[in-house]
Amino acid sequence: MLNLVLFGPPGAGKGTQSEKLIARYGFVHISTGDLFRWHTANNTELGLRVKEIMNSGELVPDSITIDMLNEELKKNPDAKGFLFDGFPRTVAQAEALDKFMAEKGTAIHKVVALDVSEQEIRDRIAKRKLTSNRADDEDDKLNKRINEYFTKTVHVLPFYEKQGRLQTVNGIGEIDVIYGNLCAAIDS
Ligand code: AMP
Repeated sequence: MLNLVLFGPPGAGKGTQSEKLIARYGFVHISTGDLFRWHTANNTELGLRVKEIMNSGELVPDSITIDMLNEELKKNPDAKGFLFDGFPRTVAQAEALDKFMAEKGTAIHKVVALDVSEQEIRDRIAKRKLTSNRADDEDDKLNKRINEYFTKTVHVLPFYEKQGRLQTVNGIGEIDVIYGNLCAAIDS
């Protein structure tokens, strides 16, 4: 069993790379962002609780996120491996994930971080803005998400680095080159 966390800021290309990695390695894909969007779109009790928070671009509280993730793990008892995308975003989430994996008799084997600087992310968004007509509140939300990443989520990296589980891959360049480097990091 191989379990992987794909890490990186909003706009780093995690979604695109996740799809390619799933096709190659057969991971069960767990994206907490997708799960929250499903709940809000379907107006579930959980969806109603997190809608406002998501709309603001802030992180959903750990307790809600961790419980949702645990439910999702229970739905996939026979998975050959998991790819976590957008989770963990805090050290508390990373610790909870280790605990859940240990309970399953497995572990998070690797954390692969797409390295894209804050400036590069902001440049990409500024470029995108020239061709799209995002509303101002969409821009505010995106800014908030970027801030949440660079002020809160980055602290998860040293947690994994200290344990020798972190590998960093340059996230700037051609999609297929980045994909090749990700596969090399996973297979190493
Ligand atoms: P994403 O598509 O992964 O960027 O997630 C969209 C939104 O869902 C985020 O801006 C957060 O509000 C929420 N979210 C997703 N994953 C998490 C997480 N691991 N912890 C807290 N909030 C999250």
